Amino acid sequence: MSEGKKIILGIDLGTTYTSVAYIDEYGKPVIVPNTENQNITPSVVFFDGDTIVVGEVAKESSKLYPNEVVSFIKRSMGESDYVFEYDGKTFRAEEISSFILRKVVQDAEKSLDAQIKDIVITCPAYFGINEREATKRAGEIAGYQVHQIINEPTAAAIAYGSLDENRSQKTVLVYDLGGGTFDITMIDIKSDSIEVICTGGDHNLGGKDWDDRVVAFLVQEFQNATQTDEDILEDPDTCQDLQLSAERSKKVLSQRDKTPILITHGGERVKVSLEKTKFEEITQDLLERTVTLTHEMLEEAAKKGYEKFDEIILVGGSSRMPQVSERIRQEFSVEPKIFDPDESVAKGAAIFAWKLAIQKGLIKRAAEKTGKQVESMDQYEDGELDDVLEELEQLVSEDTGYSVEDIKRTAIRIRNVASKSFGVVAHNSNDEEIVYNLIVKNKEVPVTTTKIFGTAVENQEVVSIQIMENESSSISTNPAHAVQIGTATLQLPPGLKTDTPVEITFVLNEEGRLQISAIEKTEQKKVDVDIDTKAVIQGEDLEKAIKRSQSLVVT
Ligand code: AMP
Repeated sequence: MSEGKKIILGIDLGTTYTSVAYIDEYGKPVIVPNTENQNITPSVVFFDGDTIVVGEVAKESSKLYPNEVVSFIKRSMGESDYVFEYDGKTFRAEEISSFILRKVVQDAEKSLDAQIKDIVITCPAYFGINEREATKRAGEIAGYQVHQIINEPTAAAIAYGSLDENRSQKTVLVYDLGGGTFDITMIDIKSDSIEVICTGGDHNLGGKDWDDRVVAFLVQEFQNATQTDEDILEDPDTCQDLQLSAERSKKVLSQRDKTPILITHGGERVKVSLEKTKFEEITQDLLERTVTLTHEMLEEAAKKGYEKFDEIILVGGSSRMPQVSERIRQEFSVEPKIFDPDESVAKGAAIFAWKLAIQKGLIKRAAEKTGKQVESMDQYEDGELDDVLEELEQLVSEDTGYSVEDIKRTAIRIRNVASKSFGVVAHNSNDEEIVYNLIVKNKEVPVTTTKIFGTAVENQEVVSIQIMENESSSISTNPAHAVQIGTATLQLPPGLKTDTPVEITFVLNEEGRLQISAIEKTEQKKVDVDIDTKAVIQGEDLEKAIKRSQSLVVT
């Protein structure tokens, strides 16, 4: 492989498909096809002895070997109790995802004739802390440096914004209906910034749910035709078969008014015709849910002063269903734009990754120029380096081979918001347990919040912090409406009185990753608190997973 220009990939790690893009020598985002010459790779993993097969072959193998094939792994990211068992070994969700990443990066290396170690991965805006951490771990297990995890709708907006060279100001709704997730995001695009205003959605609503409705319809039709009430989905072969036929017919119905489907089970063959009107009827409530979630997000945006929007762009493969555009047109009286559904997220991630790399290059050069440590440098746009900026841009242009014009284009600010609220379990004045939110959903990130809590009893030795994630937009919420994402323990000095102040600080960074620290105020002892969670591989288990991954061949 050639030692040429350092390539950083943008990867759209989707529930059903994964795609990869990079920035070519002209500064344009380009999708990198896989070795099967396809622009998208099914996010499906087939365990075949010591070899891990990913993609189309794995998807097709699901019929023959349903127990050896894993699909929709994205839905299990960050779940503490998910494991897949194969050959007496267990695999966590992030390990399965790491195989998908290895396959697409290896293929990109072949296609671009380059060694690639640097990636940016996208995730639904809706992902919480554990899902994001698990996504980052997947990249690390695969052996790559994950420079950032960015939100899919933000990536789509970056790709969309980059098409408009003049970048007139507009507020855009990104309606992203993928294979397994639905994200709705309001984004403000300006000449020098892309700012996420508000985000909402459901990470268990996507094309797969439409497929499941078709599967249920087919089961019913089979039962009617054969006069039985057998649950044919109990047969894994039939189940896989129906799932594949359902997805295929759903796609056909995006083009035609009806489609024939053949159901074979237990030696019986039943021919069914699925009409588009019937398909729309059995999936109508799913579509309505996306409309309700859109309204909920718009209400949140209105509270922040954003009462209207200019455009709706549709991304995600499932937005190809004509019912989506029709319903949006009817509900919001705007003509939605279908924007590059399969490719926009990966391309936006590639643009973002490239900007990140160029900015890092500028900072490195700026550090050399000023004699400062790279770590202590602020972003150069902040004014400090204005005098030498042109010289630095020229240097980075020479370092990277991109034009000075391209380098200048990278100076765009990208602002994001917290997609969830984060707090701790505390007691209110009535001594009831509540979740006190230090970071409230849709707050701009990075954000730091500090709150002082009092110790509960005399001589308290430890404070156990229960870190909670929730959807509430208020400062406090009922613990029943929140999930515990981890715990942390703060050791206290002896002899403290009741109600001794303990200061807890939450920092949510640009990637939506959470750091926590606590200070016991009498001794000013600061502790960085490691979030103890079983939802993501860490410590020794992570080391083992990395080793095991290296010993496996992925094709
Ligand atoms: P994504 O996660 O954005 O790649 O979206 C994948 C989802 O889009 C899957 O559920 C696909 O079945 C669905 N999809 C792709 N193409 C079409 C189409 N032409 N009509 C309906 N759904 C589609």
